[in-house]
Amino acid sequence: MKKTNFHTHTYRCGHANGTEEDMVQAAIHMGIEELGISEHVPLPHYRQHLLKSLPAVRGVRSLLSLAYSLVKNGPGMRMPHKDLDSYLEAIEDCQKKYQDQIIIYKGFEAEGLEEYFDYYQSLLYEHKVDYLILGHHFHKHCIHSDYYGKDHMKKKDIYQYCNDVEKALETGLFSYLAHPDLFLIGYQEFDLDARTVSQRICEKAKALHIPLEVNAGGMRRGLRNVQGEMLYPYPNAHFWEIAGEIGNDVILGFDAHDPSDFNEGMYKQMMQFCEEHHLNVIDHFDFLQGHFEKFQGEYDIR
Ligand SMILES: [Zn+2]
Ligand SMILES: [Zn+2]
Repeated sequence: MKKTNFHTHTYRCGHANGTEEDMVQAAIHMGIEELGISEHVPLPHYRQHLLKSLPAVRGVRSLLSLAYSLVKNGPGMRMPHKDLDSYLEAIEDCQKKYQDQIIIYKGFEAEGLEEYFDYYQSLLYEHKVDYLILGHHFHKHCIHSDYYGKDHMKKKDIYQYCNDVEKALETGLFSYLAHPDLFLIGYQEFDLDARTVSQRICEKAKALHIPLEVNAGGMRRGLRNVQGEMLYPYPNAHFWEIAGEIGNDVILGFDAHDPSDFNEGMYKQMMQFCEEHHLNVIDHFDFLQGHFEKFQGEYDIR
């Protein structure tokens, strides 16, 4: 099996280190043959989006994160929309410069926010990017109150996550689902509801032939004691046991936020996790181009 990775960030999002070229060089160094760069998607009219989220704000932490995002117009969560072209150009430069050493793809990790689905569709139809991955961190608004990785996730939050993810996958805009088990960071008891949500996500992905990602980002945070069990924040052993039974295709994602995140130790750790859970690991997947209705027939779909 080839070593590949389609989940890579850069300094542009404001919470990672390394240029596109730094990431490419690190990937080449550890023998990765195909690399997708997938920065947190820049969103147009982002300040408007954030202002609309004001009624959803709960608590000081959310208010502060909203104020920070408003001032910065993107970072620390995502790059500003005005940087879109320079990001794509930087990747294209790497594609040329390193063409004998590695295959490079242009992508984004995108939120499943309905208000932006037509924007995502245009990114794909205009061939700005090769693929999008669904990294669904927020319900409706990119603020902490709506964050699915927060502590103390309630039952209603995990079902909301499930509904959001199902709806997003059905658009055909997203080629794989990143850290599908993000909702379990703050919902620690793997009860009947957690099991139901996990099953629904795995079954939906399986029916649509969309791979799920075992994500190194959660592994880098290390194991933690959850009610007497040692678990990663993600990948969560209980979730992946279900994915193994359902027989989902599984892709490894370094979720690299620093060039040093590309390392052999992490690759082995991810592979070992997949073996333990009898997962069907793949090294490539189809780049889905979306079938968002209002665009059909108007563009030349590759
Ligand atoms: Zn990130
Ligand atoms: Zn993510």
